[in-house]
Amino acid sequence: MNRLLRPQTKEGILRLKPYVGSESKLIEDSLINISSNESAFEASILARDAYINASKDLRCYPEIDAITLRKAIAKTYELNADRIICGTGSDQIIDLIALAYAGVGDEVVYSAHGFQMYPIAAHSVGAMPVAAPEQNLTSSVDAILDKVNDSTKIVFLANPNNPTGTMLTQDELNRLHSGLPSDVVFVIDAAYAEYVTQSNYEPGIELAGKEDNVIMTRTFSKIYALANLRVGWAYGPTDIIKTLDRIRPPFNVNGPAIAAAVAALGDQEYIEKSRSYNQKTLSWFMDEVKAMGLVVNPSVANFVIIHFDSNSSKNSEVAYQYLFDRGIITRRVDGYGLPDWVRVSMGTQEEMLKVRNALKEFMEQDE
Ligand SMILES: *Cc1c(COP(=O)(O)O)cnc(C)c1O
Repeated sequence: MNRLLRPQTKEGILRLKPYVGSESKLIEDSLINISSNESAFEASILARDAYINASKDLRCYPEIDAITLRKAIAKTYELNADRIICGTGSDQIIDLIALAYAGVGDEVVYSAHGFQMYPIAAHSVGAMPVAAPEQNLTSSVDAILDKVNDSTKIVFLANPNNPTGTMLTQDELNRLHSGLPSDVVFVIDAAYAEYVTQSNYEPGIELAGKEDNVIMTRTFSKIYALANLRVGWAYGPTDIIKTLDRIRPPFNVNGPAIAAAVAALGDQEYIEKSRSYNQKTLSWFMDEVKAMGLVVNPSVANFVIIHFDSNSSKNSEVAYQYLFDRGIITRRVDGYGLPDWVRVSMGTQEEMLKVRNALKEFMEQDE
């Protein structure tokens, strides 16, 4: 048999474009980090206390299947714990879904400006990611259904979507699901669900609760403010959950993370405060940015994208750098097919005032 000179990376892995993170961790004291859609506030004090308390037991392995956390999630959201799986972030669950349901020769459909992890997960298992065009920077049910063919195994939809901040209504989710063949796994990624206040929004619990091919993913990284602990979860039909559980690494959620997440769930007052703070701040910030003559894409989450004219000396790259030089770390979103936009997550009031002032200065500068 002919052997090659060195190990050969699989084709799918070579095709994938690595995840581009924020620059905030590269800087010693990034004054204002609004680059990763993290919460504006530290987690509930109950969660932080639980984490510290859990440090008394670092010697032993954690629960093999995060059962304590699954039960707490089930209680909070009135779900069945057997239909919940926890992950090292919901990113891990996205990977497990790709691993279990797609491979070489298969297609994975996602919305053109959808979350970067979907094409990465598809390529990592040798499948082909297929981007469906959007309308007005919003996922299009018809365009997604148009891309679905006999090779399609998974449809990923972030709702609301990152980085566009837009959402599909419950009716549109239902219509999308009705148009899908019943053997296509429909993944509703509701990472920002808790921020949404629109009455025609539903995170996916309803479809995932009654359909055999729908799974909803959630995270503790955003409104629960535990991104550093890497905890996510998903709710879906028993068959899918059991399948994912077969390939889930045992002990994937560590004990201190489980303890903190359980305590965080117990402080819904904190969540309510975060949600209403975000609503106020987001709407204030969008108005301020519009008043500067910039275009913002209306968002229902805890971040917003701002458009900069590519033909002007004040394009997105210059704007990003201007803020960066003043210690304000935002996010460029070229990797999402949005080269002329900059994403800004909602920070504290004090931070957002500084961001507003810096942007205003930037826009008022002479050319
Ligand atoms: C932030 C985010 C997640 C969360 O990922 P974790 O791995 O749980 O931290 C998932 N989906 C989208 C669309 C996100 O923006």
